[in-house]
Amino acid sequence: CGIVGFTGRREASPVLLEGLRRLEYRGYDSAGLVTSTGNELHLRKKAGRLAELRGHVAAHPAPGCSGISHTRWATHGGATDRNAHPHTNTAGDIAVVHNGVIENFAALKHQLQAAGTAFRSDTDTEVLAHLIGHYYHGDLVAAVRQALSLVKGTYGLAVMARAEPGVIVGARLGSPLVVGVGADGMYLASDANALAGFADKVVYLTDRQICALTETDWEVRDQDLSPVSVA
Ligand code: GLU
Repeated sequence: CGIVGFTGRREASPVLLEGLRRLEYRGYDSAGLVTSTGNELHLRKKAGRLAELRGHVAAHPAPGCSGISHTRWATHGGATDRNAHPHTNTAGDIAVVHNGVIENFAALKHQLQAAGTAFRSDTDTEVLAHLIGHYYHGDLVAAVRQALSLVKGTYGLAVMARAEPGVIVGARLGSPLVVGVGADGMYLASDANALAGFADKVVYLTDRQICALTETDWEVRDQDLSPVSVA
């Protein structure tokens, strides 16, 4: 339902929690975030109100200056801690938050299970984490693109890889996503309302575009990965 990402020169988790708070009005049943410190991903997620996640993060801090977060409005699988986003691949080195519905998730899930992948949630979203992990060989943009070529449905996505700290990849089809450029870093959100006062400039992605953010830069690419110049 709601997505907020940040990578830059300040702690990410307060930015993510504030961004999610501003999207609460859209409704949700669970919330979660993941941050990165060099070689480790810190995953925190809870069913229920944002206050549950806030309390969980206060008790178990999620350090790092980059992260992605989500408020979920369940379509596939109940509102439980384990169905909350982010979802990860088996190795835990890819994390995904997703708005929308993966319509062919059952077929993709069966293929992954037949190949030995164990699923940890009842969501349609989890297939994305495993697929991106399968295609990941050091280039997150390329892996996201390959995974999405197999997917039918709608998505606004934010993805991080443990091996690429500070990098956030976003993609959209039928679900909004906006890049924000701030003095202290780069932002990603499903709704520009989350970024008011944080970002000086916002850029709306169009369907099938993929964006990549680093602490100091951002770029948008087309489906075939050719760069798009955005004014
Ligand atoms: N279909 C996903 C799920 O049920 C995402 C729902 C949403 O857009 O929040 O987990």
